[in-house]
Amino acid sequence: MSDHLPFSNAHSHIFTSQHAPDYFLRTAIKNDWLARQIDKMVKKDGTRTALKSVDWILKFFSPNYRNTVRRYIEFVQIGTSATQEDVFNMESRAYMRLGDYRIVVLTQVLDYLDYNSTSNHKKIQTQVQEIIELKRNELYHDKLIPFLGIDPRMQGIDLLQWVTSHINKDVGFYGIKIYPAYGFFPFDVRLDPVWKWAAENDVPVMTHATRGGSFYLGTFDSIMNQGGFRIQSLNPNSSAMPRILNRISQLVNESDKSVKKNNETWCNVFGHPDNYIPVLEKYPSLKICLAHLGGANEVKLSAAQQLNPATKTPYPGYLGGNWYTAILDLMTNFPNVYSDISYTLSDKDAMNIITTYFNNSPLIDKLLYGTDFYLTQQETTGDEPGLINIFLKDFSEAQISKLAYVNPDNYLRSAIQV
Ligand SMILES: [Zn+2]
Repeated sequence: MSDHLPFSNAHSHIFTSQHAPDYFLRTAIKNDWLARQIDKMVKKDGTRTALKSVDWILKFFSPNYRNTVRRYIEFVQIGTSATQEDVFNMESRAYMRLGDYRIVVLTQVLDYLDYNSTSNHKKIQTQVQEIIELKRNELYHDKLIPFLGIDPRMQGIDLLQWVTSHINKDVGFYGIKIYPAYGFFPFDVRLDPVWKWAAENDVPVMTHATRGGSFYLGTFDSIMNQGGFRIQSLNPNSSAMPRILNRISQLVNESDKSVKKNNETWCNVFGHPDNYIPVLEKYPSLKICLAHLGGANEVKLSAAQQLNPATKTPYPGYLGGNWYTAILDLMTNFPNVYSDISYTLSDKDAMNIITTYFNNSPLIDKLLYGTDFYLTQQETTGDEPGLINIFLKDFSEAQISKLAYVNPDNYLRSAIQV
């Protein structure tokens, strides 16, 4: 297949619970009760023994429930692994049978998830330093493709300097990773020099683009009213700014208190696909992947709404607009907007809709294979070998060649990393 190019996973994570605030893993597990139990036991007894004891108790539950819990346990086990190297090795094992391969590893700034809590976790600088050392290791050098986490709130750091001192041939980072749902806008003026440099050098950017996943955990007021919140756009005259500002002000003036209590909902205001338009209108050639095609729920909702336009959405109207179709529009309107099938790959119904669409769309040239390892581990079909199999089965040989070989090569290649 596609001569000389390696099989590429464009989206995965190997940070561990040591790199995240104590409360992080708890938010990544969807079953609240279970998350709290596991969290408690991990804190009290150390991971492995605690998890073994859960496994024993599970004998008393139905096989179905038992499987759910086992998946959570696997997920937590990976998340609480000793090192990023351990996690990378775990993921690599799934790819060895595919011949030459490489895996994009997204470092992530997890340090501003809650302004009100302090946490003793390893900060982004340490997470990144560990990756630098792994990349220097002969064993991983060609397989590990690191992306650098950035956040406009990083203290005492010149963001452009942070980016250029890591994304270069010597240190070996390839691209930039952002996660707006942790509490900032992609059009934040503090990011402007970084986007300018990335666009000039063809450097790839990866951003999270679903309504779910993890999100800012503090109170609404801590970020939207007092705590450092600014709406300073790098492109105030962008065609999208009026509706973005309107959306924000509707949220701020929301009288239904339950909305502001539900972070998973109101944090949508940060990661909404519209928020990339001011950036892309200023830097039309910026190479950016809005990951997950908006997420399985939005994919399925768009199909349901096509059949019945009255289909209800599980969020207030002003946070609306379908993220899947919005991402397809951005991919159509801007030459270097990509998306990937990571995480969404674990949802069969969503994948049916996606493969049907992309069978007949030129946008397939900007779609990437990825899995979102190890965050997918909690899904029924979320283990890495299983996801690889789904991918190889759902797409034709020509499409696999694009998604896993040719497109990632175009996406990753820049003036910095040729
Ligand atoms: Zn991810």
